[in-house]
Amino acid sequence: MERKVRTRETRQRRLVLKTLHDTRSHPTAEWIFARVREQLPNVSLGTVYRNLNVLREEGIVREIRSAGRSTRWDADLSPHGHFVCTACGEIRDVTDLRMHDWRSLKDLVGCEVTAQQTEFYGLCPACLRRSSRRN
Ligand SMILES: [Zn+2]
Ligand SMILES: [Zn+2]
Repeated sequence: MERKVRTRETRQRRLVLKTLHDTRSHPTAEWIFARVREQLPNVSLGTVYRNLNVLREEGIVREIRSAGRSTRWDADLSPHGHFVCTACGEIRDVTDLRMHDWRSLKDLVGCEVTAQQTEFYGLCPACLRRSSRRN
């Protein structure tokens, strides 16, 4: 019995991770839940949340929190920033940035940095077109 439960949990976690790996849209937990449910109809939103949090604690996925918006998730751990559209909420990866080597921040601020998050805000191309049409 014990083993059966563990197998089910592993399967759910793997599917949550695969779903997140297969998209570049930085989805919400609700979006992931909808996809996972197509394959595991008995899964609950709470289970998806729990799995995401376990994966985050294990350092396998990262959480993108921005004020006033629901948390988004990213399975891409390579150093990159995010552009957040303030109109539609779309999140795009910003790569090829010269990322500051935060490991050396210890010398600057005396603190040990364990993670870095860079976010840019503005309008995505589609929202930019929409707003310029209006004017
Ligand atoms: Zn937009
Ligand atoms: Zn990303």
